[in-house]
Order: sequence, then C-alpha cells, then structure tokens
Amino acid sequence: MDAVIESYKPRTRVHAPAPMPWAAPMPASPSRATAASDTCLTTPDRIVQPGSRVVVVAPHPDDEILAIGATLAALSQRGHAILVVAVTDGEGSHPGSAHWTSDALRSIRPRETEAALRQLGVVADIVRLGLPDGGVARHEKELAQLLPLGSTDTVFVPWRHDGHADHEACARAALAACRTVGARCIEFPVWALVPSHPAHARLAGRVMQRIDVAPEFVQAKCHAMAAFASQVHPDGATPPVLTVQALDTWKEDGEWLFA
Ligand SMILES: [Zn+2]
Repeated sequence: MDAVIESYKPRTRVHAPAPMPWAAPMPASPSRATAASDTCLTTPDRIVQPGSRVVVVAPHPDDEILAIGATLAALSQRGHAILVVAVTDGEGSHPGSAHWTSDALRSIRPRETEAALRQLGVVADIVRLGLPDGGVARHEKELAQLLPLGSTDTVFVPWRHDGHADHEACARAALAACRTVGARCIEFPVWALVPSHPAHARLAGRVMQRIDVAPEFVQAKCHAMAAFASQVHPDGATPPVLTVQALDTWKEDGEWLFA
C-alpha cells in the first residue's frame, strides 16, 4: 500500500451529543475508540484515475455533500465529469409533518442539492430516479439496472453497512451494477461516521482511508451544508433531521472511504 498510514484518532467531545430522532439508546461512552483503527491517507487524485467520470449514487439529496462534498469539489476542479444519481427525492424525511409534506420535500430537497453543488463549484449532471424514500430495498434490482454506468466510471456510494436501509440498498445495487459493467465502486460512510449513530460501532476493525482534501474545499462544503434548509432547521418542536452534532462530524472529521 503506497498510502501514508495514519491513525484514526478518537475525537473527544466536551459534551454528550443530544439523542437523534433515529438513534437507538446512546452507548455509555460513544467514542471513536469503537471505530476503525486501521486507516490510511489518500487524495482525490489517487482515488480517481485521469479521465474517469465520477458517479455518485445518492440515496437522499444531501448524502453526497455531507460525506464527500469536498472531494467532489476537488475532482470537479480537476476537470472530472461528475454525475449525481439522485435515487430518491428525500420525501420521507419528515413523516407526519404538516409543514414538510412529502410533496413539499419532493420539490425542495432536489433544489437544495443543486444549490449546494453550485456553492461548491461542482459542475455535475443530475439524474433523478424518483424511487421511494424509505423503500429503495424493494427496488434494488431495478436500481442496479437503472444506474447509467460505464466501465471506466468511478462510482461512489454509501457504505453497505451504513445503518440506513436506503443507503445499504443503494450500496448493494451499485456494487452489483459495477460488477456487471466492470466499473470501480467505492463506498463511503455517512451515518456510520456519526459517533452517536448505532452504525458507528460497525466501523470497528474496518480499514478506512481518510481523504486529504485542500482546506478551501472543506470550508466550501461547510458553507454549502446550509443549503439543506429542510434538514438543518427544526420543524416546530421537532428537532432538525441533521443535528448540530451530526453536522459537526461531517464538517470536522474529514471525508472517508473504505479501502
Ligand atoms: Zn441518506
């Protein structure tokens, strides 16, 4: 392995994160100590070969930005063609909300992603598949056939064990589609990176790569996150889908891939 070995340092928090709406009861001491310890450092140039198109399979509008937005910005600036496959429109993020109805979310969330990509300076084509938010697993085989992949593409998708059924179904579908066409498939953690998420413990013993991205791209990503207004603000008395603690993880802990 030609990459520089770097330890995956636990990030000490000064206070315990607030419970998230989707979270199981908090472990007694959530810590990166439970996460992957065998990691190495890589760069966008090492990950994607010159001339390769970058395809991001995004289960929901925001996953691609939260987890690898800075990397996408770096790759776009290097001239790589980028295709975002928006698998769902994210219409299921606020079940029962009077304000954020499914129709409203289906309309606004894709626009939030477009705004975030613009802020990041990412030039991307976007294909919306419109599969049901929360029901991707029921369409897994269909999704594998719908993904418009070529053999020289470099495909990014959330981790197959990321702790969200849609993320995991997208991973299985992308892995199958990449096997069929001979494309390279790279998985990245989204929710598994968040220490208070139950899937975080699944990182234990996994070999991961931290992406060394220029600080200006990381800073741009932090600003671009504000574009996801439907997700970062409370809905009346209901806490935001993306809590401050979760956003801090994606802002401060870098971007990661599975080796
Ligand atoms: Zn998602």
